[in-house]
Amino acid sequence: MRRRIAVVGSGPAGLAFARVLHRHGHPVTVLERDTAPDARSQGGTLDLHEGLGQRALDKAGLLKEFRALSRPEGQAMRILDPDGTVLRDWRPRPDDRANPEIDRGQLRDLLLGPLDVQWGREVTQVVPGNGDGVRVRCADGRQETFDLVVGADGAWSRVRPAVSPVSPRYTGVTMVETSLDDVDTAHPDLARLVGDGSLAVYGVNRALVAQRNSGGHLKVYAQFRAPLDRQATAAPADVETVRSSLLALFDGWADPVLDLLRRGTAFVRRPLHVLPVSHTWPHVRGVTLLGDAAHLMPPLGAGANLALLEGAELAETVAAGPADPDHAVRAFEERMWARAGRWAQLTTAGLERLVSADPAEALALFDQVQPS
Ligand SMILES: Cc1cc2nc3c(=O)[nH]c(=O)nc-3n(C[C@H](O)[C@H](O)[C@H](O)COP(=O)(O)OP(=O)(O)OC[C@H]3O[C@@H](n4cnc5c(N)ncnc54)[C@H](O)[C@@H]3O)c2cc1C
Repeated sequence: MRRRIAVVGSGPAGLAFARVLHRHGHPVTVLERDTAPDARSQGGTLDLHEGLGQRALDKAGLLKEFRALSRPEGQAMRILDPDGTVLRDWRPRPDDRANPEIDRGQLRDLLLGPLDVQWGREVTQVVPGNGDGVRVRCADGRQETFDLVVGADGAWSRVRPAVSPVSPRYTGVTMVETSLDDVDTAHPDLARLVGDGSLAVYGVNRALVAQRNSGGHLKVYAQFRAPLDRQATAAPADVETVRSSLLALFDGWADPVLDLLRRGTAFVRRPLHVLPVSHTWPHVRGVTLLGDAAHLMPPLGAGANLALLEGAELAETVAAGPADPDHAVRAFEERMWARAGRWAQLTTAGLERLVSADPAEALALFDQVQPS
C-alpha cells in the first residue's frame, strides 16, 4: 500500500522533496500558504553550490535546465571601503560552475514543473498520532491524515511545534531590502558599480550589499546592528521615512554607494532570526522538518542549498521503500543535523565578522573563503 505523504511549504526544501518523489513515481500532497505561485515576490538571487544545491537539482533531473538558466558570471564579488576605494575585485573564470546564481523565482518555477501544489492551504497545526497517522489542520477548516508529514514551512514553521518547543531568536542584526529595476538603462552608473555579481561595503557594525539579479534587476541589502524593532516590522514606515533613516545611518559613505539607497524603490525590513546552532529533537513518528524549519541560520549562502539537498535526500530515502520508513527518516535526521550544525556554526560566526565593530574582519573572512 502506498504511504500517504504531505509536505508543508513550497520553498526550496518542500519543492525539492516533492519533485524528487515525483521523479520516483510517488504521489505527494504539497500544501502551500501562498494563494498562487505569483502571490508575492520570490525575493533575490541564490548561489547554488556544486556539492549542495546543484547536487539536489541533479537528483531531481534538473541540472541541465539549471545550467541553462543560471549565471556563472554572477559569482563575481567586489568589495569597497565606505569611502569608495575598491579593496577586492574578484571575478570567476569563464568555466567556473562552483556557485552560479539563479533568481529565486526561476528556481521555484524550475522545481514546480509538473507538480500539483495546493495553493492557499495554510497549515495551522500538526498532531502526531499513535500509529493511526498524523493529522494536519488547515486555516480553511479542513483536516487530513497522513503517514508522513514533512515540515518545510520555513522560519516560522507551524509543523515545528509537533516535534520541538524551540523558536527562532533575534541575532541583533536587521536587514532592510530595497531594489532597482532596469539598471543597465535607468542606472548605468550603479550597474557598473555593482558589476556582474555582488558588491559589498563594510563599515562599523553595518554593511551594504548589492546583488545583480537577472533581467537588469538589482537587490540592495542594508545590514546593521540594532535592537529588535517589532513595531517597525509589523507596520512598515513609508518609503521616504525608511530611506532617510538609512541615509542617516550610512552618513559619510561614498556618494555612489549611497545612491543605491537614494534610488531604491520599496523597502522591506527583515530582522535576522536564527534557531540554536545544533537544533535537534527527539524523533516523532511520522513527522520531520527540513530547511529553515529545522535549522534557520544567518543568510550567508547556505540555507537554500541545504534546504534543496535535504529535500532531495529525504525523498530518495522514502522512495527507496525501506521496510521501516520511520527508521530511515530517523537516520536521515541524524545526517541532516550533523551537516546543518556545521553550516550553522560557520554562518553564525560569519555574521559576527561581516557586521562587526571591526570592518577588517569582513575582508579577512572574504580572503579566507575566496583566496585570490
Ligand atoms: C535576504 C536573504 C538572502 C539569502 N540568500 C541566500 C543564498 O544566496 N543562498 C542560500 O543558500 N540561502 C540564502 N538565503 C536563505 C534561504 O532563503 C533559506 O534558507 C531558504 O529559502 C529556506 O528554504 P525553505 O524551503 O526551508 O523555506 P522557505 O524558502 O521559507 O519556504 C517556506 C515555504 O512554506 C510556506 N509556508 C510557510 N508557512 C506555511 C504554513 N503554515 N502552511 C503552508 N505553507 C507555509 C511559505 O509560504 C514558503 O513558500 C537567504 C535568505 C535571505 C533572507
